[in-house]
Amino acid sequence: MAHSIEQLKAAIRGQLIQPADATYDAARKVYNGMIDKRPALIVRAVDAADLMAAVRYGRENGLLTAIRGGGHSGPGLGTCEGGLVIDLSLMKGVRVDPTARTVRVAAGCVWGDVDHATHPFGMATTSGFVSTTGVAGLTLGGGIGYLTRRYGLTIDNLLSVDMVLADGRFVTASTKENDDLFWAVRGGGGNFGVVTSFEFRLHPVSTVQFGPTFWPTEQAADVLRFYREFILTAPETVNGFFAFLVVPPAPLFPEHLHMKTVCGIVWCSTASAEETEKATRPMRSVGTPLLDAVGPAPFPTVQSVFDSLFVPGLQWYWRADNFTELSDAAIAKHVEHGSKLPTMLSTMHLYPVNGAAQRVDKNDTAYSFREALFAEVIVGVDPDPANAQKITNWCKSYYDALHLYSAGGAYVNFMMDEGQERVQASFRDNYTRLAAIKKKYDPTNFFCVNQNIKPAA
Ligand SMILES: Cc1cc2nc3c(=O)[nH]c(=O)nc-3n(C[C@H](O)[C@H](O)[C@H](O)COP(=O)(O)OP(=O)(O)OC[C@H]3O[C@@H](n4cnc5c(N)ncnc54)[C@H](O)[C@@H]3O)c2cc1C
Repeated sequence: MAHSIEQLKAAIRGQLIQPADATYDAARKVYNGMIDKRPALIVRAVDAADLMAAVRYGRENGLLTAIRGGGHSGPGLGTCEGGLVIDLSLMKGVRVDPTARTVRVAAGCVWGDVDHATHPFGMATTSGFVSTTGVAGLTLGGGIGYLTRRYGLTIDNLLSVDMVLADGRFVTASTKENDDLFWAVRGGGGNFGVVTSFEFRLHPVSTVQFGPTFWPTEQAADVLRFYREFILTAPETVNGFFAFLVVPPAPLFPEHLHMKTVCGIVWCSTASAEETEKATRPMRSVGTPLLDAVGPAPFPTVQSVFDSLFVPGLQWYWRADNFTELSDAAIAKHVEHGSKLPTMLSTMHLYPVNGAAQRVDKNDTAYSFREALFAEVIVGVDPDPANAQKITNWCKSYYDALHLYSAGGAYVNFMMDEGQERVQASFRDNYTRLAAIKKKYDPTNFFCVNQNIKPAA
């Protein structure tokens, strides 16, 4: 058993990085540039054996321990101050089973790794909207993406996980074994152990119809009023999230729109071009769009469209809520705050979470808000640390204005550091069961650098 650093070094095949090492500064960085923490030790694991050794080392030395998948967490939950970071980024590997239509994904993969491996088979599963996000953190919180209306949340496509528990044991969780644990990891985050690999169901997805429709913000109220009905009855093959955004100065967009604040819908449809055109035409005919550019694109391209904009190291401040309705009063607040984006990269997205995601009961997985129609995320983003306060203030005031109209809790992966009450509000009546499962698998709350679920008393 590894008690000393030397013993740990001898026990693992991955890397062990300490503050004096040349690679330390690069290794301690997470995606959000606002987070600047200095762990005492970073273990880059390469396999489950490394994870067992690292977990034991952290536990037996009483170290605050953070688990890092893709490092994308807004509040920086993939790192910690003065403790141990167990980084899974070297644990890559994706195995597609084209016959069973499943994929086994090592926990250090990002979604781009999965898309790359599944696309040649003409298949995909629900992921997110950016290819550099970690499979692990996104999945464990729920997973909202372009395929949500058709194929549900990412956790609705999760078939099993392999995990290392707080006591160092290795287990598999699925509906057939350790089903309480499997229930908890589908939305309950990294509270219950380190996942070493995920097995997902795949669906036939290859070339999709993708692109934006943009309108001037003056038309945002009309667009949102139409959208709130439209997206509830549109075929589930059609996904389109609503956004306030600044058009980036990229050759992809006409020059006269560069740096203009607009509202828009970003479409991604798995239907044919003709069916997509027919289904989306009513929405795209509202008002006078500034740009309407939907066309065929390979799914991995769609997944990585925003990658070059949202590069690692930017300042991010997040706020989120779930909505079961979008009243005229809420729309008025959206228009007021969404029209005043503080920086080019700041944005507000309203993701539709109806369709297949709603066909799972709110108590069937830890993810609770199955009746929500929209998941809202407000993000203040900018490269310049001098603008950190500005983007934070805008984000909070936008959130405060809308929270009144929300259903209560939020998608935990879109939250910042709002504390225990907010975590409980997001899990609602699932929290008690989660706390009992936490007590069973992690009674000392070893895995606490997360949207934390306290072990039941
Ligand atoms: C640019 C950007 C785009 C995003 N887009 C989407 C989106 O489209 N849809 C969506 O649903 N979410 C999205 N998110 C939110 C995303 O789901 C969360 O940030 C998520 O936590 C990222 O996972 P990660 O592994 O990269 O993060 P990390 O920071 O590595 O980890 C996040 C949390 O998960 C835990 N964790 C990580 N790996 C493991 C593991 N193997 N076992 C146990 N616990 C683990 C960590 O301890 C931490 O608490 C986005 C985030 C960013 C920054």
